[in-house]
Amino acid sequence: MSEEKEIEEKARDLMKKITSKNPCGSGEIDLMGRRYVLLSTEYFPYELTKDLEEIFGTAGDAVLYKGGERVGRDLYGHYIHLAREYGIEIWDIISAVGWYFGWGLGEVIERGHNNGKYVIRVYNSFESESFIDREKKVKKPVCHFMKGVLNGIVESIEVVKYKAEETKCRAKGDEYCEFVFTPL
Ligand SMILES: [Zn+2]
Repeated sequence: MSEEKEIEEKARDLMKKITSKNPCGSGEIDLMGRRYVLLSTEYFPYELTKDLEEIFGTAGDAVLYKGGERVGRDLYGHYIHLAREYGIEIWDIISAVGWYFGWGLGEVIERGHNNGKYVIRVYNSFESESFIDREKKVKKPVCHFMKGVLNGIVESIEVVKYKAEETKCRAKGDEYCEFVFTPL
């Protein structure tokens, strides 16, 4: 047996002892052709966000937002093909995929066709969950990454620049997170 296989066997045996099920199976989570990792919302993105805010202030929030925008543009590029192939509306597929991967349950409340305003709600967003786990209640919205992801998707669809704002956040005590996207 190769050294890698031996280490894997050891890990599998140990996990069988401490948990009744191993959702990872082979130890690599492969879903819809991409590899994923599991991170507890008790740590992620709470710890990262707190450090970025402590070191860079509001610029730290912007780092998460900018990274989110790039992810959003990539997700659009990835799922628009599936949307076209199956004849599914892009926002329906984005909502379903977001739910499936545990990011939260999204609903497009207002869809601004032809560069109009968008309003999107996300129930149980993982970012807000992470803060609720650790701080119970905060004063300002915390879903900077999610806001960036959604803005990246909105801008990809509309092909113009948008300004994004999180007007409600579960971490502040609101029922859901609500994002408003206004064309620039
Ligand atoms: Zn939020």
